[in-house]
Amino acid sequence: MKKISVCKFGGSSTSCWEDVERKKKIIEDDITRKVVVVSAHGKAYDLDKDTNLLIDVAREKDIKKANFMIGKARMIYPYLEEKIFDELEDVLLDRINNENLKTNSPLAYAASIRAFGEELCAKLHSKALGWEYVDPSELFVFDGDFDNAKILPESETKIKKRLSEDKVFVVPGYFGYNKDGLIATLNRGGSDLTGSYIASSLDAIVYENFTDTNGIAAASPKIIKDPKIIEEMTYEEIRSLAYSGFSVLHEEAMMPVTEKGIPIHVRSTFDYPRKGTMIVEDRKLKGENSIVGVAYKPGLAAVDIDCFGLNDQVGIGEKILGQFRESNISIEYITTGIDDMSIIFKKNQNSYEINNNEITNKVKSVVPNGKVFFQNKFGSVVVAGKGLKGNLGIAAKIQTCLADSGVNLKFFSQGPSERCIVYGVEEKDGETAVKAIYKNFL
Ligand code: ASP
Repeated sequence: MKKISVCKFGGSSTSCWEDVERKKKIIEDDITRKVVVVSAHGKAYDLDKDTNLLIDVAREKDIKKANFMIGKARMIYPYLEEKIFDELEDVLLDRINNENLKTNSPLAYAASIRAFGEELCAKLHSKALGWEYVDPSELFVFDGDFDNAKILPESETKIKKRLSEDKVFVVPGYFGYNKDGLIATLNRGGSDLTGSYIASSLDAIVYENFTDTNGIAAASPKIIKDPKIIEEMTYEEIRSLAYSGFSVLHEEAMMPVTEKGIPIHVRSTFDYPRKGTMIVEDRKLKGENSIVGVAYKPGLAAVDIDCFGLNDQVGIGEKILGQFRESNISIEYITTGIDDMSIIFKKNQNSYEINNNEITNKVKSVVPNGKVFFQNKFGSVVVAGKGLKGNLGIAAKIQTCLADSGVNLKFFSQGPSERCIVYGVEEKDGETAVKAIYKNFL
């Protein structure tokens, strides 16, 4: 079978002509690179990312921002003919002026405009570099919401068929069409998912995700100055860290490649051919790499219950958790002692801040003899690594390191697979905890 690599370039990879030429060199450097997925142009010439501009255009019908965006494109591709930009501008103006769609389906109208950034970027790459433009209508069938569409499984066959020829194709990420032929978009950052789905459908040898960083850092650069880049990590490790606040790839983008065991290479467009981070199914432990990273996520709250005899009451756990289900609150962790327990959850959920009185009173109603407290302002520090499993004494060492740094633990928790350990700390201690763990274990 033909070996194919799928490359996705983020918006920050294209803000001037040198960037376009750089991509050409990258693609030509490896004959397996056959499919290029692009996001909309990023910030350039003092203008915001194209997708942000387009969202404003759709909301405010602000034609000026649409003109600025096309003006930006003219500056990025100075060697292309004027008429190419004029034609593309006309397509966008037609969409903006589609009053019929705006009235009958405002969400479809907004999607048709929001999606244009990717279309523009892919078509201009096609003109500038000679790669064949493939419209998402030829590859994908979407379903669901106009701003959070889902890719239907029949897309796989379409992708295999359309991208079978031995040439370089360029595909706009982020958008597709539903069964009524209307444009819909994935949620924000969705080009990662477009690339991943294509990689999976073509059984690619690798999914290369080109961005503006050198890979995935072992800790947030907001907390640690110049953190080291992780060379290799597993799908499970990235999941643990991403869940806890690492923003690396679009959340749903992991799934299609993970299912087929296709490696993801997160790497820099600007520092090519330097290698970035390989995300793989499994990796060899070498001793010093048992832990790959530490993440911190603030914004947790808890309802603590203390009630004499709680441990002996059959069904009380179900009653307490039922209050959270009724209030549509998703739970992050549950910790228990003797006759006390703590239910921990994100303070902001379902787009609003959880009303502490309401949930506290509801829990009180099922534990009338107990004390129920609402606690605020803490977060979770997550230490992730395949090498935690069966590593005798590692949890004790991490806890000693946290204690030596003056960090008090509200709770700690480890799932049965031992792939990560979670420490609940007060928000004021979050950064100290990350710094201490990074210094001693990474
Ligand atoms: N351009 C879209 C966004 O900014 C999609 C993407 O970049 O992946 O969210």
